[in-house]
Amino acid sequence: MSGAGPARTLAAVSAPAVDVPLWEDGGGSPLQALRGTVTADVCVVGLGGSGLAAVDELLARGASVVGVDAGPVAGGAAGRNGGFLLAGLADPYDVAVDRLGRARAAELHRLTLAEMDRMTAAAPGAVRRVGSLRVEDDEAGLAACALQAAALRADGFAVEEHDGPEGRGLLFPDDGAMQPLARCRVLAAAAAAGGARLFEHSPVTGLDGCRVLTAEGEVRCDAVVVAVDGRLDLLLPELASTVRTVRLQMLGTAPTDEVRVPRPVYLRGGYEYWQQLPDGRLALGGFRDVGGAAEETADARAAAPVQDALEALLRDRLGVTAPVTHRWAAAVGFTTTGLPYVGEVRERVWAAGGYCGTGNVIGALCGRAMAARALGQQHPATAFERLA
Ligand SMILES: Cc1cc2nc3c(=O)[nH]c(=O)nc-3n(C[C@H](O)[C@H](O)[C@H](O)COP(=O)(O)OP(=O)(O)OC[C@H]3O[C@@H](n4cnc5c(N)ncnc54)[C@H](O)[C@@H]3O)c2cc1C
Repeated sequence: MSGAGPARTLAAVSAPAVDVPLWEDGGGSPLQALRGTVTADVCVVGLGGSGLAAVDELLARGASVVGVDAGPVAGGAAGRNGGFLLAGLADPYDVAVDRLGRARAAELHRLTLAEMDRMTAAAPGAVRRVGSLRVEDDEAGLAACALQAAALRADGFAVEEHDGPEGRGLLFPDDGAMQPLARCRVLAAAAAAGGARLFEHSPVTGLDGCRVLTAEGEVRCDAVVVAVDGRLDLLLPELASTVRTVRLQMLGTAPTDEVRVPRPVYLRGGYEYWQQLPDGRLALGGFRDVGGAAEETADARAAAPVQDALEALLRDRLGVTAPVTHRWAAAVGFTTTGLPYVGEVRERVWAAGGYCGTGNVIGALCGRAMAARALGQQHPATAFERLA
């Protein structure tokens, strides 16, 4: 990683709608904060995509559920991300095969494909299954693409060579793009309709066995599911050596027809990424490495120099002059292995996170795995346990 000077705040960079994601469309339905004591079979901490998948799975298995979040539903990374739906793990498939063996990597890859189908069915208005592109600018990157394609084909997964206006690389036809905040709001509404009691603006201040303590209330339950990706190490310090919190940043533009990006694109192995919404707006993120050590923070505010690098990519590589309308960031969890963490951290307290910037699909699976395990049951996604 490159070294970086102290981060300037965005006031110095210029930015309308600082720290509001492009995805905010005013469609949220505010929920009450938790006050007093409530009981449930399971308490889910964190109402992002992973926590909401856990709630869905718990309800499907007949459990009573209370969910709490420190902020609004999907106020963390789940509602502030790039909106890519990618099959597989954060690592390219050939690297996953090297790390996990072919059978296990293939099993996990298949699970992510099935979960994407489920996500599409659950929120069809928020998901577009248009595929995704990996493009690379240098020979090393293209050689890495060749290895990825060969490994995918060897196990029967779809991939095509691509050479187009976005660059050269690979097209993954099963992938997609989504409006991540709208998707989570659909899931939260479905969970509430299904009987889950969800509370916003209720930061968990402590876990005392299976008592979940918030500023003004308490949940008493038989098991706890902690679905917090970024800041997991703050809530459960025993995971600090496994999952560390990192900031990822994005910007968004006004509608433009200067480019046409039919499917989400990622560059440099995923360090940079962008998608164009049907109305022409662009959402673009990346350059965590340009920020260096300053991005190893739970401070989820957009800042230079990452924002400067994003704007340079927008202007110089994409050739887009449309104004930047939004700049935002969020915290995610990274593991040293590149593999996600799912496990029972304390007796009857399950936690997951560390999706390494690729948690939209994996996080949902890990949420389902935790939900099953919290009830003493099995789910195919428990294959994600003991990876990190
Ligand atoms: C800029 C950016 C771009 C990304 N792009 C992509 C992408 O394109 N594709 C992809 O797959 N992944 C992407 N990711 C990663 C992805 O967003 C995350 O891995 C995923 O959202 C994790 O979901 P989650 O529900 O586990 O955690 P989160 O979304 O972080 O949700 C956790 C929730 O827990 C709550 N919480 C935290 N602490 C407490 C507490 N003490 N008490 C109560 N609640 C608490 C938070 O408020 C938050 O709502 C991106 C992330 C960022 C930041």
